[in-house]
Amino acid sequence: MRLFKKRAFIPITKSSRLEDEKDAAKVPEGMFTQCPNCKRSIYGKDLGSEKICPKCGYTFRIDAKKRIKLTVDEGTFEEWNVDIAFKNPLDFPNYDEKISNVQSKTNLHEAVVTGKASIEGIEAAICVMDSHFIMGSMGSVVGEKITRTLERATKEKLPIVIFTASGGARMQEGILSLMQMAKISAAVARHSKEGLLYITVLTDPTTGGVTASFAMQGDIILSEPRALVGFAGRRVIEQTIKETLPDDFQLAESVLKNGFIDKIIPRVDLKETLGLILKLHQ
Ligand SMILES: [Zn+2]
Repeated sequence: MRLFKKRAFIPITKSSRLEDEKDAAKVPEGMFTQCPNCKRSIYGKDLGSEKICPKCGYTFRIDAKKRIKLTVDEGTFEEWNVDIAFKNPLDFPNYDEKISNVQSKTNLHEAVVTGKASIEGIEAAICVMDSHFIMGSMGSVVGEKITRTLERATKEKLPIVIFTASGGARMQEGILSLMQMAKISAAVARHSKEGLLYITVLTDPTTGGVTASFAMQGDIILSEPRALVGFAGRRVIEQTIKETLPDDFQLAESVLKNGFIDKIIPRVDLKETLGLILKLHQ
């Protein structure tokens, strides 16, 4: 079974992925991209549609639209929950402007895209978080979109696949952001009570309140290689416990070793693996 086939080992380097991505951003856009892991220049086309470094196998972050294109059967995606309006519940300064700027820059409604699609011929509800939208932070709209998708999946007896990518709760919405954790978790429980399958795919980075709630509630928890998966960040923990953490701290590979993830799946195999798991649970 391809699910358990062996993969080449990708060495884990010292710096965390969040730092790596900051370095990558320094390289001007153009024909060549610098790999944040092996630091080699890659000709744009050589990254391929999966955006994987051909030299070291580093998995670049991709946006929600690209993710849907790579994951679902062509032409089957039907978007849900596009009409949930943004509000600035705490009147947080400059928050409205920030949202409208990010919306026009990313061409996204919010930090998650939700809907229904077929994966290898099997219908499933799907939520894809996008780190390009305020680092995939979870505010009221994100929480509402994911909750409604879970509720509709429950009603329509559909399995659900959620791709997580988040810096955590959205600080501009304070306690209302934190409430989303409980709201989504309750919707996951209702979906599960109906005997329906819930798969999470952790992508880089999955942190904070998202990790502390629905990311870790999947019946099956998959992850992309080298994804940062954690709750509080490395610096916060180091300063609190006054100790230096190991280099692989919070990388998917070490999180797997500690039993929080079921399997790390290379991006090129994700669609097939999801299809296989969905088939097994039909
Ligand atoms: Zn590389």
